[in-house]
Amino acid sequence: MENTCNMILSEKIIDKENYLPALFNMIPDAISITRKDNGKCVEVNNGFINLFGFSELDIIDKTTLELGIWKNKKDRELLLKEIEKNKYVNDREFCVNNKFGNDIFVLISCQIFIVDEVEYILTIAKDITKIKEDQIKILKSAKELEYKNHALEEFVYVASHDLQEPLRIVSNYCQLIQEIYDGLDKKNINSKDKSEMDTYIRYVLDATSRMRFLIKDLLDFSKVGKDELNYEHIELRDLIETVLFDFKVKMNENKCKVTIDKMPKIYAQKTQISQIFHNLISNAIKFKGYAPLRIHIGVEEHGDMWKFSVSDNGIGIEQKHLKYIFGLFKRLHDKQKYPGTGIGLALVKKIVELYGGEIWVESKYGKGSAFYFTLPKK
Ligand code: ADP
Repeated sequence: MENTCNMILSEKIIDKENYLPALFNMIPDAISITRKDNGKCVEVNNGFINLFGFSELDIIDKTTLELGIWKNKKDRELLLKEIEKNKYVNDREFCVNNKFGNDIFVLISCQIFIVDEVEYILTIAKDITKIKEDQIKILKSAKELEYKNHALEEFVYVASHDLQEPLRIVSNYCQLIQEIYDGLDKKNINSKDKSEMDTYIRYVLDATSRMRFLIKDLLDFSKVGKDELNYEHIELRDLIETVLFDFKVKMNENKCKVTIDKMPKIYAQKTQISQIFHNLISNAIKFKGYAPLRIHIGVEEHGDMWKFSVSDNGIGIEQKHLKYIFGLFKRLHDKQKYPGTGIGLALVKKIVELYGGEIWVESKYGKGSAFYFTLPKK
């Protein structure tokens, strides 16, 4: 390879020492050799010329400061100080300028060496502009996404909060209409009209009741992470027993037997942890099979996390649905057979992730399911 750019400036280190001149130019990174005493460039490679856009003439006997490479003079001073102190610098990131004033992000490494009793600084600048620009783009989209998510959560919160009032009015007036209708003398209404009227009123009342649950669950969902942080030490055994108490009647009806491992204490927000167990136990009861219901609430150590489980011997979930059920409004059954809003598991996931934990499910269709989640020990 012809060594056209292995330039003779004021001195010629690479040729003089016969240090593989071709290799010097083959390296894509920008390499420069400067005198340590006056900072003037002695030699640069093709990579330097390509990256900074200067010609050989531009560079002769100039310092990088005179070339205008440094956006911030302080960066150069700091670099020189470090070289002076340690004799080398490794992979320092800087934003510098090329000849045309464009920003270039570089990783700079330097090393002092001595030839004929003169000290030189060998500098290698690796161009990371593309990587940096990609990083900036990713950061920008992540910020935009975060902003949009936040706006969406605010919207869900405000909408669900404000919808409660008109819904309450619709629901109350519907009940009043039904009461008035029930008290009417219906002699003059034919039986077909009467039955239709009964059906319509029931539909409206059912729908408003479903909507009330939906709005309440949505509001709970959007509130996660909004509340004041009210952390406390929680005796989990007590918390689980309190949650189970709410399901006492349903559990008796289903001859349900619950077993609980020895539970640890955790430091968290009580209402949020209750919500996790409440939703998982409620689902275990709702999606029961024909056999008497068995629920096991387990715990084991998982590094610096506790791994909890709520398992049941209920209807189970088909493998193909496993990854969807934690999404908002994802339900696998019709609302007549298994009422619900499809928000319960999404809410549990949101709380678990707020604590830096994970949630997943293992299930055998027709045999039962086990929901696992992790929470930090500390
Ligand atoms: P919802 O219970 O209101 O339908 P969830 O978000 O709590 O909503 O659950 C989503 C879906 O996941 C449920 O509709 C059901 O199909 C399935 N699922 C949840 N828990 C269980 C369980 N223990 N056994 C079987 N299926 C379950």
